Amino acid sequence: MKRIGITGGMGCGKSTVLNEFRALGVPCFVSDIVAARYYCEPDFLDGLRTLLGDSVFLDQYTVDKRAVAERVFADTALLEGLNALVHPRVLGDFDCFCRQHSAAPYVLFESAILYDYGFDRLMDGVICVYLDLEERLHRLRLRDGADTETLMSRIRRQMPSEEIMCRADHVVLNYEGTPRRRQVQYIDQIIRK
Ligand code: ADP
Repeated sequence: MKRIGITGGMGCGKSTVLNEFRALGVPCFVSDIVAARYYCEPDFLDGLRTLLGDSVFLDQYTVDKRAVAERVFADTALLEGLNALVHPRVLGDFDCFCRQHSAAPYVLFESAILYDYGFDRLMDGVICVYLDLEERLHRLRLRDGADTETLMSRIRRQMPSEEIMCRADHVVLNYEGTPRRRQVQYIDQIIRK
């Protein structure tokens, strides 16, 4: 079974494209959704408390995620600390997911930061979903209701989409009017071979 990464900057349409692969029966592992569950796990919360202190907790078991983001994005060492808590768990859970789906020809691992943290080295191939910055901002303003400045501060932390596209093995162009489903079907067939 192959492990295929799927990545792209925020707002390019990863979730939308992932749904197309899901419709073809491909098992999809979404890192962000899996990682969000850790915030309910006592041992993870203990690690978070050791790293960031009580100030990021609303009560004993409830994390103020906005406070966590503010702290870690202002301090590289704290961001590394948080990554050290989250990333090994995500990779361990992905291993379990792969074992559960060992009969599938391939599984997808979705992560916006696949290349930033070298997860691509654990994959047999990578798909990039691409959209230019202006169009991403347009869609994100609609999706998240956030202003351009806020969105840009998040986007600047990620690898530029053009670099992601150059490094990937397959690219899905997600412009309105481009045949997304056909691109997905084509890539699916290539990977299955
Ligand atoms: P990501 O997961 O990469 O952050 P999403 O899949 O959430 O991106 O897509 C961002 C927004 O753009 C969503 O609101 C989605 O509905 C919309 N969107 C995705 N693909 C298209 C498309 N081809 N045409 C128009 N809107 C799209």
